[in-house]
Amino acid sequence: MLLEAAGRPLVPVNIAVPMPGPGQLLIRVHACGVCRTDLHIVDGELTHPKLPLVLGHQIVGTVEASGQRVGVPWLGWTDGDCRYCRSGRENLCDRARFTGYDIDGGYAEYAVADERFCFPIPEGYHDLQAAPLLCAGLIGWRSLSFAGDAERLGLYGFGASAHIICQVARWQGRRVFAFTREGDEEGQAFARSLGAEWAGSGAPPEELDAAIIFAPAGELVPAALAAVAKGGSVVCAGIHMSDIPSFPYELLWGERVLRSVANLTRRDGEEFLALAPLVPVHTEVEEHPLEAAGEALARLRSGAVRGAAVLRL
Ligand SMILES: [Zn+2]
Ligand SMILES: [Zn+2]
Repeated sequence: MLLEAAGRPLVPVNIAVPMPGPGQLLIRVHACGVCRTDLHIVDGELTHPKLPLVLGHQIVGTVEASGQRVGVPWLGWTDGDCRYCRSGRENLCDRARFTGYDIDGGYAEYAVADERFCFPIPEGYHDLQAAPLLCAGLIGWRSLSFAGDAERLGLYGFGASAHIICQVARWQGRRVFAFTREGDEEGQAFARSLGAEWAGSGAPPEELDAAIIFAPAGELVPAALAAVAKGGSVVCAGIHMSDIPSFPYELLWGERVLRSVANLTRRDGEEFLALAPLVPVHTEVEEHPLEAAGEALARLRSGAVRGAAVLRL
């Protein structure tokens, strides 16, 4: 399913099976998660994709040469020697290349990936259930790490990432407060079923110690700052967000911290994929055939997806 230009629908095309270069694996794709980032690319909000492009950066498949099951995440390549890479921050690499953005991704029967950036998939996870772990899970995990030891955790936007991180946070003994779109009673019930003690859309019933914003809505930033206690953190987990409205310094005062989370490191992946089976994280998946990738994206945009949307091949 090919994206020819921003703003255009994905089109089914026949393209040659990609040829792996040195250090690359040819992967037969079994499942590929659909991510909010894919919508930002389709909408032209991320402005420099390779074109035409095969989207998809939550790939689960088997290596053609060895039969090993692997996962391919968003971080597809780094130079290994810029100041960020050399200081353990490869997620910020100046020359990083991303799967389904700079490199063709997994909305296709085959994908090629640098073997150094692939992860083994934990046993016990079906392909479809594993796919959302690779971005929704990994980025969520990295975001959660920036919440420190916050006991009362707010999750703004209860989509693929939040439904995973809610389970991890509960397992860690935190209290979870879930924020959904106004009137989304189904989403609120879903959050409560995964252990959130409160789910709603207005102000929470008590102060939070940290908040993670998954929804790409800038107006949530001052709302979350207003909801966190002194010394609390607000973590913006998404790659793109609408403009943040101006707000009084008072909302940041009291040593509140506001930060973004960018991409992932391989260490995040290793940590999270080791932890997921221990929780154990159960991903709620809505499956679509590859040809219905456009419909899956439309459902994600409208907020209709419960848990994560995944393409099955
Ligand atoms: Zn993603
Ligand atoms: Zn680098």
